[in-house]
Amino acid sequence: MIETPKRLEPTKETIRFLFSKTGNQCAFPGCSHSLFQADTFLAEVCHISAVKETGARFNDKLTNEDRRKEDNLIVLCRNHHSLIDNDEFEYDTDKVLQMKREHEGQFTNAFDLSEKQMKSVESSLQIILESLERIESHLGTRNSKGKEFPEQVDFDQHFSKFLNDETDFLALFLKAQPTIEDCKRVFHEDYYLDIYEHYSHMYRELCVDPVRIRKEGDKISTEYKSYEYKLTPIDEFNSWMKERDIFGIKVDLLRKGIQMYDIRFLKNNDDRFGVSFNFWLFRKGRWVFFPKPNRVMRNINSIRSDDDLRALVKVIKGMNKIGLLPKEFLSMPDARKLSFTQELVRQLKKK
Ligand SMILES: [Zn+2]
Repeated sequence: MIETPKRLEPTKETIRFLFSKTGNQCAFPGCSHSLFQADTFLAEVCHISAVKETGARFNDKLTNEDRRKEDNLIVLCRNHHSLIDNDEFEYDTDKVLQMKREHEGQFTNAFDLSEKQMKSVESSLQIILESLERIESHLGTRNSKGKEFPEQVDFDQHFSKFLNDETDFLALFLKAQPTIEDCKRVFHEDYYLDIYEHYSHMYRELCVDPVRIRKEGDKISTEYKSYEYKLTPIDEFNSWMKERDIFGIKVDLLRKGIQMYDIRFLKNNDDRFGVSFNFWLFRKGRWVFFPKPNRVMRNINSIRSDDDLRALVKVIKGMNKIGLLPKEFLSMPDARKLSFTQELVRQLKKK
């Protein structure tokens, strides 16, 4: 019998055994990122072969049970987790397995998880599970083709539906909701979760207030007779989303090499009249819609409240004064400086 791929959480025993060999360090060669800061888990438990067909290095020979075993798990910092999952050709199963073995070979003393640390790991797994379930309940069936650049047929199959009077536009937009993985592909690692949350919220609003979007949809099907697309210059998307200057630290919100498309619906092939939906991403055979990035920008701004910023400046200055600013701080990428300092502030607030 063929089993449907389904995410099963690793057992407590598995987690204990897995962590015992980590030396409290990310397994990526040369990375010295600690897995815990005090009791707080700052890294990610990653599947070497994904739990779902659409994930990285998926292997249909494995059972769901196999996929949650210790030998299919590796603990990495968020940075390196997204690196290996975004490039499964460079980081194929053999390479990641080798990484795991070499890392584990370095430690002779077992790293024992405290109860609090175990709780922190478990809650991070729980958060991932809940988000996956939320996403899947929205998406319905997914095309598992891995390609990231569309062909003409990918446009036609999807967007010509908008021209059909029978089409349920709400369903079409909702199917385009960005998943965590989509956000991770597009946005910087320090921001993709915030941005994902923002889009989840925005799409939930669509669900409860579908009238507005139905109206927009009706307009398309009755007034617009054709569609066209253009590749959005990444600078245009950048001008909405790019560089935040946060107390002198420049933060780039976007990853490199993203291809976004504008979809325009036209009246009778006359390109002077139309309606435009900006910022579609084609990823793994699926169209993802990032509407209104200016609203997302506002959201990111509001996360960094003035109080937070003042606290950050205080901490950096104070640590520098008493010589406590770690040497590696200065060589960290700017965005890492920011998250590093924020983590410190969180720790200090607790005390
Ligand atoms: Zn790492």
